[in-house]
Amino acid sequence: MKLDINALLSGKVRSLPFAYEIDCGGEDDMPRPPAEVTFTSPIRVKGNISDSGSCLYLTLEADADYTALCDRCGGKAEGVVSCRLERMVAEEGIVADENSDDYFIAVEGKLDLDAEVAEELMLAFPPQILCREDCRGVCPICGQNKNEGDCDCEEKEAERTDPRWDAIARLLEEIPDEDGHGEN
Ligand SMILES: [Zn+2]
Ligand SMILES: [Zn+2]
Repeated sequence: MKLDINALLSGKVRSLPFAYEIDCGGEDDMPRPPAEVTFTSPIRVKGNISDSGSCLYLTLEADADYTALCDRCGGKAEGVVSCRLERMVAEEGIVADENSDDYFIAVEGKLDLDAEVAEELMLAFPPQILCREDCRGVCPICGQNKNEGDCDCEEKEAERTDPRWDAIARLLEEIPDEDGHGEN
């Protein structure tokens, strides 16, 4: 959405609160969430632009609901991702470097924040998305989802790698049997 800030630019108001939603499904030039993530709500944006006398300063908060595949068990993970943005606002043609990350540039009295907000939100995803904080993952041996129940692989593995068994295995290796070696 384009935010009309003419009232601020003309000095009519000193503060401009705003709230709106960004529909991510629509436009093609919107940043997409990571491949395995789906937004289940629009991006909710809420913020304010204030005139400090020397500059216009924008602060906003944005969040959206999402579902994803758990990084650990592959099950469904749900959550809310949120971010915060603070930026100075300048009219087109006023600041030297309009591509600077310090500024949002108003074109013909209007600000288009959608792409920036969406991009910032993508960066806010945790590096690992889990179905729950203590997700137990899947068994690397049999593939059992351990949130749903235990398998006995771990027990078997523990037996196999128990150092006491190693010691016994070594002893057995030292005793020659008919096959000429100690194992089995
Ligand atoms: Zn999980
Ligand atoms: Zn298992």
